[in-house]
Amino acid sequence: DHLISQIAAGEVVERPSAVVKELLENALDAGASSITIRLEEGGVKRIAIADNGRGIPQDQLPLAVERHATSKITSLEELENVATLGFRGEALASIASVALLTLTTRTADAAHAWQIENGKITPASGAQGTTVDVQDLYYNTPARRKFLKSDQTEFGHCAEVVRRIALARPDVAFSLSHNGKTVDHWMVTPIAKRSASILGEAFANARLALDESAGPLRLHGYIGLPTASKGRADAQFFYVNGRFVRDKLLTHAVRAAYQDVLHGDRYPSYVIALDLDPALVDVNVHPSKIEVRFRDSRAVHQFVFHAVHRALAQTSA
Ligand code: ADP
Ligand code: MG
Repeated sequence: DHLISQIAAGEVVERPSAVVKELLENALDAGASSITIRLEEGGVKRIAIADNGRGIPQDQLPLAVERHATSKITSLEELENVATLGFRGEALASIASVALLTLTTRTADAAHAWQIENGKITPASGAQGTTVDVQDLYYNTPARRKFLKSDQTEFGHCAEVVRRIALARPDVAFSLSHNGKTVDHWMVTPIAKRSASILGEAFANARLALDESAGPLRLHGYIGLPTASKGRADAQFFYVNGRFVRDKLLTHAVRAAYQDVLHGDRYPSYVIALDLDPALVDVNVHPSKIEVRFRDSRAVHQFVFHAVHRALAQTSA
């Protein structure tokens, strides 16, 4: 069973940033409005994520860290209409199989917090919400540990994951620290401000608002004019139903529109959200959930292309 856990853990705990992503998604699913991420040594030594969400009732604690114990999906039908970020019920179990995981949690009606570590539940102190503390990642799988890059590189990947999520959720406050130093801190703010602080002033000063709907599809966000991007390759943020994705079809649609109107901006900056009926998109196509498959990819491509094209054409006219 331990071996099976470790194999399955591969996708979820491939590197520290994957752990950060899973824990952040759990915090958001729990309705948190404030999340603190503390990392040490690129996340390998420690990843501690504290949220002020609804917490886990004491009697559900053992289940939370068991494989395929998700509180989020109860039927096959629901699986096809996934609205929450997590739904496979294996993140915590996978993480616990390759690291020391301590979870402290308190619900609104509990008299105090509870902590679970190694299957043992004990009373604890703490405010409402959940703190997941992951220490010594890969202590028992040194082979995996060897594949990691420097602390600074691993931290960079973690910070990127935090930025992607922070951009999608300006209604949530985030704070990120590394080795005791605060690296990023974002208050709850409108998306215009959040995107300016993440993509920079150049973007804030040269961007177009986008908001178009067609049937079940809605595209909204900000797209940068050429002066906004300065050729940054890391300023492309695309979300499908609130999830960050890096999808060939979508990237192509946006880039083609830029090329058509502006005759080539290799790295346009943008923060674009596509919202559609969850039944029209499959988000479970890739374990890390970064790719998506659309029921009607042609229609989606055309919609995205034309929406971006129209917005850009208006300014160059
Ligand atoms: P999944 O998110 O796919 O359900 P996880 O292993 O990530 O699976 O989490 C297992 C369960 O633990 C969740 O379904 C949820 O009930 C609970 N849980 C995990 N993290 C949190 C959190 N930060 N706040 C509240 N509940 C949580
Ligand atoms: Mg989860």
